[in-house]
Amino acid sequence: MIGEYVTFQLDKCTGCAHCVKACPTRAIRIRGHKAVHHPDLCIGCGECLRVCPEGVIQSNVESRFPLDKDKTNAAIISPALYSQFPDTMPCDVLRAVKKMGFDHVVDLSFHLEMFQFAVERFIAQNRETRQAPFPLISPICPVVIRLIALKHPTLLDNILPIRRPAVMIADDVRKKLQSIHNITGSEIEIFHITPCPSKALSQEMVLKDEIGSVDRTIGINAVYPEICKHVENIREKELDIYDTDPFANIPNARGPMWSKSGGEINPLRDEGLLAVSGLREVRNCLEKIEMGVFDEMNYIELRVCPQGCLGGPLTAVDRHMAKQTVQKLVRTFGVNRRLPPYKLQRLYDRGWFFANIRPSDFTDYYPDQRRALTIDQMQEIENLVSLLPGVDCGVCGAPDCRTFAEDVVRGRAKRSDCFRLREIDNNKEGNT
Ligand code: SF4
Ligand code: SF4
Repeated sequence: MIGEYVTFQLDKCTGCAHCVKACPTRAIRIRGHKAVHHPDLCIGCGECLRVCPEGVIQSNVESRFPLDKDKTNAAIISPALYSQFPDTMPCDVLRAVKKMGFDHVVDLSFHLEMFQFAVERFIAQNRETRQAPFPLISPICPVVIRLIALKHPTLLDNILPIRRPAVMIADDVRKKLQSIHNITGSEIEIFHITPCPSKALSQEMVLKDEIGSVDRTIGINAVYPEICKHVENIREKELDIYDTDPFANIPNARGPMWSKSGGEINPLRDEGLLAVSGLREVRNCLEKIEMGVFDEMNYIELRVCPQGCLGGPLTAVDRHMAKQTVQKLVRTFGVNRRLPPYKLQRLYDRGWFFANIRPSDFTDYYPDQRRALTIDQMQEIENLVSLLPGVDCGVCGAPDCRTFAEDVVRGRAKRSDCFRLREIDNNKEGNT
C-alpha cells in the first residue's frame, strides 16, 4: 500500500508526540498514549525516524538481505555510499560491496551523466516554445514527488519527464545480465543500496513505469559495518584499479557529487538553475513556485534531506563529514564528461530517456486526502476551529487544532478527544 514506508514498534512508544510534530503531512496522531500512523498520508520522508527518541520507528527498507544463491544478484550503489568512507577510492567501495556476495556491483556515474545530458536537451528544446511548464522540477527525490502529489498537485506537470538514473540502470543491468548469462529476468535479483527510506517499496517508487525495475532495497546503514570490514582489508592490498566486472566502471566523482545538494545541477551547462535541500526549504520553495516567484528559472533540484542524499535517514556517518569526503573525491577524480554526446543525442531522439507515464498520472495518489470536502463539512471545520483553544497543545493527539477539527469531520477523531470540546459538550448536557 502507498505510504507503508515506516513501521512503528509500539511497545516502546511513550506517546511523547515528537513524531506528530515533525511529520510534514500530519500522518501521525497519538491515541491511547501511543503513536498511530496513517499510511495514506505518508510520503516516506523519514522525519519521524530522525526525531523519535525511543527508536520506535523503523524504515521498511530491508536491513537483512540473505542473497538467493540460485539467482544472479546485482547491487546498484547509491552515490551517497562513497561519501561514507573517507580516504577510500570509489572502486574499493565497489569491491567491498562485491565481497558481501553480490555477483555484480553497479556504479551509476555514466547514467548520471546520461540523465544530465537529457536535462540539458529537454531545457534547450522547451525553453523557447514553453511547451513544458517552467520551472522544471527534478524528478530525482521521490519524497518531493509525493509531497507535490499530496500538497501541490498543480505542480505535477512541472516535474521533468525523464527517467531517473537508478531506473535506467536497473533496466539496462537486467537486460545485459540476461544476455551475458543467458538467463531470464526472473533469475536476476537487483538490489538498490540507498540512504532513503522512501524507497521502501520498489513497486511504489516515484513513477509507475519504474515498477519492477529494482527488486529489493537495503539501507546504507544496514550494510555499513560489513562494508567497513571489507574496505579495511582491501586498503591493505596493492593498488588495483582494474576490475573484471562488466558493470564496475572506474567511477569518477560525478556520483559522489550528485549525492550532495547542488550535485545534480552543478555539471549542467545552463543558466537559471537552483538547488534547494531540507524539508522546510523545499516546502517554501514549492509554495514560491506555485506563486510564480521562480517563473524565470529553468530547472530546480529539490532534495528533502538536509545537504541532499548525504543527509538521508539511512546513512551511517555525519552528513557534514560525508560532504567533506565528497569534496575530496571531486578534487581528486573530477567530474569530467566521458560519454560521446552524439550517441546520447541518438538515444534522446529515439525517446529512450523519457518516462512512459507522466508524473501527472500520480494525481490519483492519496485519494482519501484529496477527497473533496463538501461546503457543509468545510463550514463545520471552521465552526469547530472557532471553539478550539488554538494553542496547538497536542493533547488531543493531533499536531494542531485545525488538523484535529478536520479529523473530527473526516471521522478520524471524536469531539471528546479535545478537553475544550468535552467541557463545552458536558456543560450543554448539564444545561439540558
Ligand atoms: S516520537 Fe512518536 S513513536 Fe517515538 S516515542 Fe514519541 S510518540 Fe512514540
Ligand atoms: S515518514 Fe514522513 S510523512 Fe511518513 S509518517 Fe514519518 S514524518 Fe510523516
